[in-house]
Amino acid sequence: MASRRRKAGADPGAKLDPYRAKRDFGVTAEPAGEQVHEPAGEQVHEPAGEQVHEPAGEQVHEPAGDGASEPAGRFVVQRHRATRLHYDLRLEVDGVLASWAVPKGPTLDPKARQLAVHVEDHPLEYYDFEGVIPRGEYGGGDVIVWDWGTWSPAKASDPAKAIAAGELHFDLTGEKLAGRFVLIRRDDARGGGGKEQWLLLHKADEHARPGWDPEDHPRSVRSGRTNDEVAAAPAALWRSDLPADEAEQRLAPPTVPVWEPPTADELAALDGLGAAGRWEVQGLEVKLTNLDKVLFPALPGGAPVTKRDLVRHHAVLAPRMLPYLYDRPINLNRFPNGADKPGFWHKEVPSHAPSWLRRWHNESADEGDTQWYSVVDSVASLVWMANFGALELHPWTSRLPDVRQPTWALIDVDPGERSTFDDVVVLSRLYRTALEHLQVEAAPKVTGKRGIQIWVPIRDGYTFDDTRAWVESVSRAIGATVPDLVSWEWQRDRRGGLARLDYTQNAINKTLVAPFSARPAPGAPVSVPIRWEELDDPDLRPDRWTIATVAARVDEAGDPLGELVGRQQVLPPL
Ligand code: MN
Repeated sequence: MASRRRKAGADPGAKLDPYRAKRDFGVTAEPAGEQVHEPAGEQVHEPAGEQVHEPAGEQVHEPAGDGASEPAGRFVVQRHRATRLHYDLRLEVDGVLASWAVPKGPTLDPKARQLAVHVEDHPLEYYDFEGVIPRGEYGGGDVIVWDWGTWSPAKASDPAKAIAAGELHFDLTGEKLAGRFVLIRRDDARGGGGKEQWLLLHKADEHARPGWDPEDHPRSVRSGRTNDEVAAAPAALWRSDLPADEAEQRLAPPTVPVWEPPTADELAALDGLGAAGRWEVQGLEVKLTNLDKVLFPALPGGAPVTKRDLVRHHAVLAPRMLPYLYDRPINLNRFPNGADKPGFWHKEVPSHAPSWLRRWHNESADEGDTQWYSVVDSVASLVWMANFGALELHPWTSRLPDVRQPTWALIDVDPGERSTFDDVVVLSRLYRTALEHLQVEAAPKVTGKRGIQIWVPIRDGYTFDDTRAWVESVSRAIGATVPDLVSWEWQRDRRGGLARLDYTQNAINKTLVAPFSARPAPGAPVSVPIRWEELDDPDLRPDRWTIATVAARVDEAGDPLGELVGRQQVLPPL
């Protein structure tokens, strides 16, 4: 998203003076300029007698060459709930955003004639602002990026001049809006607030849609969120009392809780336990057993890894692991007799689980299916999972309460027997290029075994069918560029040892291993999120980090995927 911001433009010079004046004087109440003065009796559909000044001979389908449309810049429409709901149409002109407030919103309906109040130019920094403007400040309320894209002037080569003359014909290429629009100043242009009243209309071209209503398309094209959702949990504030390049204040997503690691005293108490005992961590007591049992055989030259080590790993990494686990049912891959003995999937909460362990009942489970799932939402519950021999944690891709809605689109670069890790990296870099091109934010993680996964945060409202189809489309395009590396065969023994770009994990109750979960292999390797540029690191290995080294890795490098938890992101059409 960031790349959409700050396109170099001409020096706006004095053009923003009216905006700055608002900023300086407007701290107490929403200034008149941002209020939309709809005259009584104003009608959405042009009343008889109102002239729109369409020149005679105007053609609906203007032939190519006429109007010499060149992309002039970006446009944005923000849906802004201030004193009154309105839509702000902004066109990038000479380094500023020329702006009109449209109470009823722009429409594709060619019959509509919408009031558009010409308001002061806005700074380019405001282009993709979405969030909340504090009450009492200029424009106080909530704002979403309702549509965005590019615009180009038609008929006139100098849009600033056309605006000054009171008539601008232009084409929009947005995600909702498209086609030829006209902005035209009314004869009786001055309203009560001293602002020019214009009309906005859509020509009857191939993009026109009779009856089209902007209120039927309420979600942000930037985040997929509605004004209500943004108001409830804004990602940013706009401080109109600050200079434009400092005005946007990013807020952490408030929906992800924060967990503290165990204290040094608590960890010392764990070390002080014998083979078994009761450990109190953050006020909850966990009964621990067989703490010195080896769960992972040693790597050559290393020490075997005990259950105590796994307990400590879950406790220390809990603040990093829990954002991926809380509010989700979890499937456990258990190896109570150690990683070198067969393991098995375990989903049902056992009767001996502590009473404080959160549980979720699957109402749609058939008889014989798992009825009650554990939900890991505290340091103590992670510790309990380690004691239970749950070496691998697989949280659902969906969150409670609506488990049919995924929160991630998952890409799994699954190597075959003949695939090298270099092949896996080549494939992952192709995803990097594709996602960059699509302006989709995501992060890779090494699995701790042989592969790499890419996790893509998505907005609320998608189904698993949506995410599976989207990941399949991207993956098929990537596979087509390197057919020697990839097989699309369902059965492993038919893949000829080639890698699989597995999109089928995007389904309810299908899971991938959690970030920072251990894997059942010698030395206790860990699945670790990495930055995209680490795909170019010659030292990268899929099992580079173990539970002995991952804490230092995280202290140094953080968690690139953690920044994306809860990100409301639209999957662009392919
Ligand atoms: Mn506004």
